Amino acid sequence: MATFSINLKDGTVETNKPLIVGIDLGTTNSLVAFIKDGQPYCVKGADGRSTLVPSVVHFTENGDIIVGDVAKEKLIEDPANTIFSVKRLMGKSFKDIQKNRDFFGYQIIDDDTESLVKIRVKDRFYSPVELSALILKELKSRIEAELGQAIEKAVITVPAYFNDTQRQATRDAGKLAGFDVLRIVNEPTAAALAAPPGIEGAVAVYDLGGGTFDISILQIQDGIYEVLSTNGDTFLGGDDFDRILVEFFLVQLGQNRDDLTSNPEFGQRIRLLAERAKKELSKTDVFEEELEGKKLCITQATFEILAEPLIERTLDCCRNVLRDAKLSAAQIGQVVLVGGSTRIPIVKRRVTEFFGRPVFDDLNPDEIVALGAAIQADILAGNQQDILLLDITPLSLGIETVGGLMDAIIPRNSKIPTKAARQYTTSVDGQKNLKISVFQGERDLVEHNRKLGEFILSNIPPMPAGLPKIDIQFILNADGILIVRARELRSNLETQVEIKPTYGISEEEMALMLIDSIQNAESDIAARGLLEARNEANSIILSGDKFLSQNAEILSEAEQSETRTLLTKLRESVTGQDKDSILLAMELLNAYTTPLAHRALDVNIRAAMQGKKI
Ligand code: ADP
Ligand code: MG
Repeated sequence: MATFSINLKDGTVETNKPLIVGIDLGTTNSLVAFIKDGQPYCVKGADGRSTLVPSVVHFTENGDIIVGDVAKEKLIEDPANTIFSVKRLMGKSFKDIQKNRDFFGYQIIDDDTESLVKIRVKDRFYSPVELSALILKELKSRIEAELGQAIEKAVITVPAYFNDTQRQATRDAGKLAGFDVLRIVNEPTAAALAAPPGIEGAVAVYDLGGGTFDISILQIQDGIYEVLSTNGDTFLGGDDFDRILVEFFLVQLGQNRDDLTSNPEFGQRIRLLAERAKKELSKTDVFEEELEGKKLCITQATFEILAEPLIERTLDCCRNVLRDAKLSAAQIGQVVLVGGSTRIPIVKRRVTEFFGRPVFDDLNPDEIVALGAAIQADILAGNQQDILLLDITPLSLGIETVGGLMDAIIPRNSKIPTKAARQYTTSVDGQKNLKISVFQGERDLVEHNRKLGEFILSNIPPMPAGLPKIDIQFILNADGILIVRARELRSNLETQVEIKPTYGISEEEMALMLIDSIQNAESDIAARGLLEARNEANSIILSGDKFLSQNAEILSEAEQSETRTLLTKLRESVTGQDKDSILLAMELLNAYTTPLAHRALDVNIRAAMQGKKI
């Protein structure tokens, strides 16, 4: 166990509490913070200048990897090997980002499966998880250098809207960087933790960063922090303010937008200059500078007019988030400003006006999330007893479905207590019993996960396969005790069992299961794909046989024989190991039989109607 030791002037003081650090893994900048003498601090780099590590990774000619300020400078000269904004890609599939592909200066590739995106750098492919791990490693070495000891335990923040895949990806990145990630925390929750002590009630966290805008409404009551609603724009942030300044300067230079693309170096130079101008205008009334022998000049007043539409867009999101939380601006008790872009005076003024109350801006807006993460870490370490945070379930809980597949009903990291349900059906005609096997773990096949128990829903009234509606409900209470309830909805048959999921799984075992799930992700995906294809094919074969026997009079000899041939081909492919050939056989059978099925349906409907003599 890591001990928290700090060097004081009069000697070394050691406590036995494990030191857990807080990390803000941002789209633009990342930071690490820790608690010293009960106060949170962000760690500065070796040069002692800034606490921010730009979230940029650069791959050099000779294979070195650079993270942070130096990497950010390479964006100009070597964009193809310099990765920024990787957070936008976390847990995303190629399809998810199709629309915004042009945004990235580097190469994003589709690895041909339904799976997550990869980024190509030279001849290697990196997942967003690996790239984020590189940023986290940089933060790890920063804090280790600062404290002179190995640090393992960390809390990492994510946007409140991150889904389970994105949260897991973040956790995995932490693990890959050598951290034991104790908790994934919502950024607005962290910000609220760092904000004024003892705030209660409805809190708005307005977070305008480099490339994204997030607005969240939290309800804080008796130390419980709950996110009521979130809204925002994943393509609105400081970069857009830079862009409007670039446009303004282009006019002063007598140049146009085409010059940015035809001369990329000029483009990057003017962009960096614009960012500097923007920051300066947060402090002074006028910005002046020469570029290429011409004078550039802009006043704060002009900048504010240009920035107005961007700010208005953030306020639209604020209106939406309030509507979703069913609150009015006047009901918000506290407004916390987060993100470097809230340093812009007009942003602060307009947000103050919107909520009709002074905003909290005592802390550095670009550090507040990391500071809050450190506080959260301190709570987890047991140093702050008065704050209660909702617990989460460490591993996914689910049931076994056909072919030994794990179907997660309550995903890992869900807040507890929680409840989730899903409907299933039978796969065999007249099936009377349904065995429900409950598993815990992250792997796609149940055989690799841990079985928690099983029970049988018996005496299901005989029905054709697919007709029964079996509702399986998982209820996980605050103590981590799981109750599984199964109910056949057509007959109202019900049974339930109580299962203790965490019983018997040690921290080490849990860690092993998680590592296992990362290392085997690829083979799991392949195995899952094959099993799913087989399951689908088997049910198509069943219905194909049924179709043939029920419609012998409607189909011609040739049609029946062709259908039979296609069915045989599908049967053969199912016994093989090739997912694609199963899919192809299925496709061929479907294409051929769909028009036949339509015709049969028409005939049957007509017959039925005549029978009823309408
Ligand atoms: P993220 O959460 O997206 O990682 P940050 O909260 O670190 O981002 O915000 C970065 C953005 O804040 C950048 O666009 C930067 O230009 C902007 N920023 C930082 N300081 C100032 C300032 N003094 N005035 C205006 N914008 C600033
Ligand atoms: Mg941020």
